[in-house]
Amino acid sequence: MPESKLPAVGETIFTTISALSNKYTAINLGQGFPDFEMNNGLIKCVYDAMKDGHNQYANSGGSLKLRAAISKKILNLYGSIVDPNHEICITPGATYAIYTAITSIIHPGDEVIIFEPAYDSYVPNVKVNGGVPVLISLEGPDFKIDWDKVKSKVSARTRLIIINSPHNPTGTILEGADLLALQAIVKDTNILVVSDEVYEHITFDNKKHQSVLSFPDLFSRSFAIYSFGKVYNCTGWKVGYCVAPAKLMREFLKIHQFNAFSTNSFVQEGLANFLEDSAQYLSLSVILQEKRDFFSKLLSESQLKPLPSLGTYFQLYDYSAISAKKEIDFAKQLITDAGVAAIPVSAFYQEGKNQSLLRFCFVKKESTLVKAAERILAFERTCAVL
Ligand code: PMP
Ligand code: GLN
Repeated sequence: MPESKLPAVGETIFTTISALSNKYTAINLGQGFPDFEMNNGLIKCVYDAMKDGHNQYANSGGSLKLRAAISKKILNLYGSIVDPNHEICITPGATYAIYTAITSIIHPGDEVIIFEPAYDSYVPNVKVNGGVPVLISLEGPDFKIDWDKVKSKVSARTRLIIINSPHNPTGTILEGADLLALQAIVKDTNILVVSDEVYEHITFDNKKHQSVLSFPDLFSRSFAIYSFGKVYNCTGWKVGYCVAPAKLMREFLKIHQFNAFSTNSFVQEGLANFLEDSAQYLSLSVILQEKRDFFSKLLSESQLKPLPSLGTYFQLYDYSAISAKKEIDFAKQLITDAGVAAIPVSAFYQEGKNQSLLRFCFVKKESTLVKAAERILAFERTCAVL
């Protein structure tokens, strides 16, 4: 066997929890995916695109029609002019785009600042390229970034800072002031930014998503990353895109052209036709906020205590009033004894920090959420008797 490039890496928590959830026929509120039907209009657009012959290789950077539609959307939402020919690449999902961005710029020994809890692909993506993750741990319940601390972690070797807002798993968001603070830190340095904005359309309580695309100095050194799976409730489609200034996009495309080369053509054509209707993605926040509130209301009598969620598919719940178990053990118990799956937040920390927090995905049919809440409450009653 060759020496592993990622010796410390095992199966992702999403695979582990989904497998257990299936084994015990639990309700899966772990991995983030909707369980309701996606938009039929988009399905028709994609079907029509196949029938119309969009079945051969797309342009390596992506369908120009789709890139033009994305550029228009960015101008409307973030007020920034992005060249569809040289500053957008369509990718097989956002995870792929994050990996490609990191691979295109990280050399062995380069330091990358990553905030924990962190989406689980960031650290392995850095390590596989020989980079050195510099981890900054955020503290609940608000998980705010202390930018003075970030400044103190910057060294001559810092090459990249990865941000994610709205944030998975905590559901927190970055405000304009955060992006201005980041912009000031990276000014006149060689530091680049990967901004994971896959939940751009999912913010709650009248909060507005702040994109690096709205801050010209920041955008001049950023890769901004998006996922259509999150925009149109079709996570299994695995189609996303990266937006970056032309000089960075050139490097991104060098890696992309020898990896996927291009993304499936009929989905791109279907999306290009469907994207015109902004009402679809602009209504997402309202629909999902209702789901967040519906689920937390169902759990109002529960000992699980919600932390604030201002965006994403997720809300964290503190279970310390029910159990003193480690997060992974309590998550397993919830699957086997209650029949509900959730993700232990410790999985988003390299050192597996335990804070008695589980991440629940509330992007489900009301009937699913009702059933899950009933099971949780029944489980709590058995705990009280024991
Ligand atoms: N970034 C974050 C923060 C995510 O939660 C996810 C997963 N949904 C992704 C990236 C990956 O998106 P995709 O499924 O398009 O690869
Ligand atoms: N982004 C999804 C989540 O956080 C999972 C993606 C995956 O399974 N890798 O639940």
